Amino acid sequence: MALTGIEIFKMLPKTNCKECGLPTCLAFAMALATGKAELDACPYVSDEAKEKLAEASAPPIRPIKFGMKEGVKAIGGETVMFRHEKTFFNPTIIAGLLTTAMSDADVDAKIAQFGKLQYDRVGLLLRPEMLVVKDANGDAGKFAALAKKVVDNSDAAMLLVSDQAEVVKAGAEAAKDRKPAIGVATDANADAMGALAKELGLPLYAKADGYDALADLTTKLTGMGLKDLIIDAGSRDLKQALQDQIVIRRAALVPKFRPFGFPTLTCPAEMTDDPMMEKLYASVFIAKYGGIVVLNDISAEGVFPLLLERLNIYTDPQKPMIITPGIYEIGNPGPDSPVAVTTNFALTYFIVSGEIEGSKVPTWLLIQDTEGLSVMTAWAAGKFSGDSVAMFVKKCGITEKAKTRTLIIPGYSAGISGDLEEELPDWKVLIGPREASHIPAFLKSL
Ligand code: SF4
Repeated sequence: MALTGIEIFKMLPKTNCKECGLPTCLAFAMALATGKAELDACPYVSDEAKEKLAEASAPPIRPIKFGMKEGVKAIGGETVMFRHEKTFFNPTIIAGLLTTAMSDADVDAKIAQFGKLQYDRVGLLLRPEMLVVKDANGDAGKFAALAKKVVDNSDAAMLLVSDQAEVVKAGAEAAKDRKPAIGVATDANADAMGALAKELGLPLYAKADGYDALADLTTKLTGMGLKDLIIDAGSRDLKQALQDQIVIRRAALVPKFRPFGFPTLTCPAEMTDDPMMEKLYASVFIAKYGGIVVLNDISAEGVFPLLLERLNIYTDPQKPMIITPGIYEIGNPGPDSPVAVTTNFALTYFIVSGEIEGSKVPTWLLIQDTEGLSVMTAWAAGKFSGDSVAMFVKKCGITEKAKTRTLIIPGYSAGISGDLEEELPDWKVLIGPREASHIPAFLKSL
């Protein structure tokens, strides 16, 4: 049973020292009880109290880790229904599906395609992370060979799926260096699959038909000593599967219903043969609580939008994505190269710098601290004003690097040009385009 805030408070030091970032021990206790604080934030909790508080402070949805060739990837660990309440922590894993029914050529092509899906955006690497290896005919040798092929030719995290424990065991042996997750545990094979997962120390994918059966299954598996489960309430109908995600998340968070306190697996690959509908279904599960989304088609045009959607949903809404203010050299600029200025909102920086790079016109790009606000918002909030931009231009050191005294400002901040020219009498202010896509033509026209 989860503890109440008052019960937790009784176990805290009650010194109100504020080191946890909250004004009182009571406030910390309340935050802990609602999953809005981590126990580690208080350095003074006794070991005895720590043990008792473990359940209250444990994430209501257990984090599960998968081994990749380099590093690990986690899902679960979520504490809120809605992103704006705090943040979502571990992005949905996007997985491609391989089966033993596929030809060698198709398997090779899919593994190669999986490896190509890597995109550098706003300083982050966007990519799918997992390959699911599924048994189609009970052939343990074929299953193990496919698992080995994935290990040898991909850096992906792996989930090995068969309803026969001996087939899974053969695959897990072949992929043991990767530390895969295994499954599928069902009501029919729970004893054998649970024992195998326990023996190998691997996360277990458990699937049942409906909530009651799923709760019974996870209760049985946790009773066997298993802690790391990935769960699936079985439906392959969009409406029901979406409802499953919401019910499971809410049950895990609000009453802290432990049998549902695990990340989920969703399977658009088994919901439609249409690649576009598959991506639409996947987008629903990325938005609503899918821990893993399994896709049949992993074409670049299908996966890339899902990666962007995931990026948006899993960024922390309370932390602006910012770039360090300063002078950025795009394309090796010299003393006569143009000088442009914009804000330190990461997306603004990456879009503007990308367009400047594309223009092949070497340019000094000044990035001013606007606390991560975009140009229009910063301008409206007075953080990208004539005064502040002028101050930044004077102090950043650009006058020592560039002889040019023409400053290009974003089109959306044209209103500051008068103030700026007053503050920077040696400079001519040039109003740049409003849309970043017009930057290359603008720079070339100078
Ligand atoms: Fe209380 Fe610990 Fe927070 Fe200090 S750090 S106020 S002792 S909960």
